[in-house]
Amino acid sequence: MSEFVDSIMEHVKAKNPAQPEFHQAVLEVVESLEPVIQRNPHYRKAKILERILEPERVIMFRVPWMDDKGEIHVNRGFRIEMNSAIGPYKGGLRFHPTVNLGILKFLAFEQVFKNALTTLPMGGGKGGADFDPKGKSDNEVMRFCQGFMNELFRHIGPKTDVPAGDIGVGGREIGFLFGQYRKLTNEFTGTLTGKGLNWGGSLIRPEATGYGAVYFAEEMLSTRGETMEGKTCLVSGSGNVAQYTVEKVNQLGGKAITLSDSSGYIFDDEGIDEKKLAFVMELKNVRRGRIKEYAEKYKNVTYTPRDPKANDNPLWDHKADCAFPSATQNEINGQDAQNLVKKGVYVVSEGANMPTTIEGINIFLDNKILFGPGKAANAGGVAVSGLEMSQNSLGLGWSREEVDERLHGIMRSIHKTCVQAAEEYGVPGNYVSGANIGGFIKVADAMMDQGLI
Ligand code: NDP
Repeated sequence: MSEFVDSIMEHVKAKNPAQPEFHQAVLEVVESLEPVIQRNPHYRKAKILERILEPERVIMFRVPWMDDKGEIHVNRGFRIEMNSAIGPYKGGLRFHPTVNLGILKFLAFEQVFKNALTTLPMGGGKGGADFDPKGKSDNEVMRFCQGFMNELFRHIGPKTDVPAGDIGVGGREIGFLFGQYRKLTNEFTGTLTGKGLNWGGSLIRPEATGYGAVYFAEEMLSTRGETMEGKTCLVSGSGNVAQYTVEKVNQLGGKAITLSDSSGYIFDDEGIDEKKLAFVMELKNVRRGRIKEYAEKYKNVTYTPRDPKANDNPLWDHKADCAFPSATQNEINGQDAQNLVKKGVYVVSEGANMPTTIEGINIFLDNKILFGPGKAANAGGVAVSGLEMSQNSLGLGWSREEVDERLHGIMRSIHKTCVQAAEEYGVPGNYVSGANIGGFIKVADAMMDQGLI
């Protein structure tokens, strides 16, 4: 590690102890930014990097709620308002038992650069709670969402902070959150995105992250004169991002052969076609069941339960061309990355946020894999959230084709920004550096323009 990176990391670790995911996200960005800071001493003098590392505001609050049996529970809610130099804070809410301050800070930090890459005027934020929606009734989820919004509503607004979904927060939760927000504020505004279609939502928002990750993979493939046609793909997760990744892979002539949840994964050599995907959507979005049922329903499918003691994930050890990690952070470690490379995978497009460890990323870069980091590859979700905000402001709804066309255009533009920034700073083909540099410069210049605030 260079002296520059060392000194920043020492400071970050001392100021933010016990937040390993935040340290990891910062290290990846700071390593890419060293040449930018060297070439632009005015950023260093203005301490732009140090300022970007510190959230503008952190909100942490109690969420008490009652279950169906009348028992009281207390969860912890958060909103990290990281940076608003280029627009209102924007980023999802995650409901998962592992949620803590460090995880949300890593997500909010990444979101700042991602949102800048979309070309839309959105700052970065993230929030959530250590609440587990699994196994809860609809009424319990509703009561939790209402309790969460009882505090959050005073910190957000269409021009201040616009939350959306993430792990554990889908259409059902956004509905409950929006209902309570509207009741408390007595206003109907576009404060949350991912809304239902008949109350201010945008067409293509549910599809956007998965579709975007596949569009990004196609852009990377096009640099080698190839397309998705005929490509075999490994997909992890089976939630929102994974489902629409599979749908787009199928539409573009590829074949997805895996899906997972936190209990295990399925391998279907024949491919997860449209009909099987409809089964997954009903299983996961309506019945809220486990992916294991897929292997019980379809022949010639294997299900492998997750082994928490294993040091690699067998999902990443199948012969394929492309990988779309779409579950959670750090799901591809160094060993998994090595297995992927050995099995012939040469395109990795991250649907999830930071699903690859730094060791894994270095293995991909050393092997010249077309590696699209989450900041760039999964920006389609927030991009269409931005388009939902525009439609809400205009009081209009665009057609499916129009939103999809804009999403596709944004993904092409993000790809171009990454390629150009990487070339300009002497690391052609390195999308990690390209995304970090492209996103950083836009935010840094806005911060320079706006003075020391
Ligand atoms: P969902 O809640 O819809 O699905 C998450 C999926 O990942 C589920 O299959 C879940 O399995 C699995 N999963 C979650 N946590 C773990 C874990 N610790 N270990 C193994 N599997 C796990 O979430 P999304 O699809 O919305 O989000 C997936 C990823 O994509 C996240 O990293 C998110 O931050 C990122 N992302 C999402 C965007 C969006 O628009 N939704 C936008 C950009 C990024 P189980 O049901 O067993 O928990």
